[in-house]
Amino acid sequence: MRQVGADGLEFVRALQAVVGSRAVGLREPVFGGNEKRYLQECIDTGYVSSTGPFVARFENDLADYAAAHNVIAVVNGTAALHLALVALGIKPGDEVIVPALTFVATANAVAMAGAVPHFVDVSWETWGISAEKLRSYLSELLQQRDGSFFNRKTGRPVTAVVPMHTLGFLADADGVAEVAKEFGLALVEDAAEALGSFVGGVHAGLAGQAGVFSFNGNKTITTGGGGAIITRDSSLAKRIRHLATTAKLPHRYEFEHDIVGYNYRMPNLNAALGVAQLEQLPAFLERQRTLHLIYAEALDSLEMGFSASERPGTVSNYWLQAFVLDSNCAESKNAIIETCLDNEIAVRPLWKPLNRLAAHHSSPSDDTPVADELYSRVICLPSSPKLAS
Ligand SMILES: *Cc1c(COP(=O)(O)O)cnc(C)c1O
Repeated sequence: MRQVGADGLEFVRALQAVVGSRAVGLREPVFGGNEKRYLQECIDTGYVSSTGPFVARFENDLADYAAAHNVIAVVNGTAALHLALVALGIKPGDEVIVPALTFVATANAVAMAGAVPHFVDVSWETWGISAEKLRSYLSELLQQRDGSFFNRKTGRPVTAVVPMHTLGFLADADGVAEVAKEFGLALVEDAAEALGSFVGGVHAGLAGQAGVFSFNGNKTITTGGGGAIITRDSSLAKRIRHLATTAKLPHRYEFEHDIVGYNYRMPNLNAALGVAQLEQLPAFLERQRTLHLIYAEALDSLEMGFSASERPGTVSNYWLQAFVLDSNCAESKNAIIETCLDNEIAVRPLWKPLNRLAAHHSSPSDDTPVADELYSRVICLPSSPKLAS
């Protein structure tokens, strides 16, 4: 029989006080608004696919909410990252700086553009890329030739950086943007988890040339599957739109395509769901914040860790609630997770650092002690907003 430490059972009891005793998922969506009405409208009008009024409406509503000048809605967050990188000129053979601690899509999108992810560590304060550490790392790593920066070891040009806002907590994207400028790197913000997160009143995703959201079923709002790119740069937005729609040139009837594009536009059905979800975003955010307070109180007495919270000067969306085990409990992490799963409470670890994955094994990487430490100590908790209602 598997040995489960007393910690695991204590943890389950503390969680059950919050989530109840029935089976609970990690991040179940809530459909409490106009979803059915808007979906019915799509079916009634026949607009279910890649054209239809809800797409523009979703893009406009999102642009208003985030004060983003341009929004392009696409099929998912991975496609959004891929498109942003390609539209910014990231080419096969380039290297792109990616945090080791992120969902695999961040690095996969780089590989989909033919480029090579180059992993760096995250900081303990933000769980994202640290601007200061990045500056000193790149100063050592890069060599300038003909106005471009090359990795001294691999000889490949390093052309972009993709900071990610872990669980909706804000990385120092503005600091990273300054470093990116110094080294001529494009900056794409992976804000997939950060809809509703702000720094100094500015929405996540606007620190560099482009920012990316995901509307997968487990994100703060969902379109079923979906994603979006936001950018202040209108000509970049135009390029992205073109690439997302098979690079078809406008013509009354002729099929003219000037380059090889993608079929990445969000269908009207998904956008309809998105419009309804966006209407409820303020309510979701309020409940996510409340849920954090509820967990903080329920778990603080355990003396085995603490729940993660936002940095001063930032507003986190609290997309996914997280509990950081004390370092002396780290070795019990898997046993605790398994006890929770045995009790039908869906908890998860953070992502295994990507420089340890077979999928990205041959990619260059800095040492990543903080990513490794966070991976060994963090447990993500059931986080549906309905748990706080
Ligand atoms: C969810 C997520 C994505 C990708 O989103 P999909 O819509 O599932 O393709 C990318 N990066 C991060 C950090 C994510 O959490």
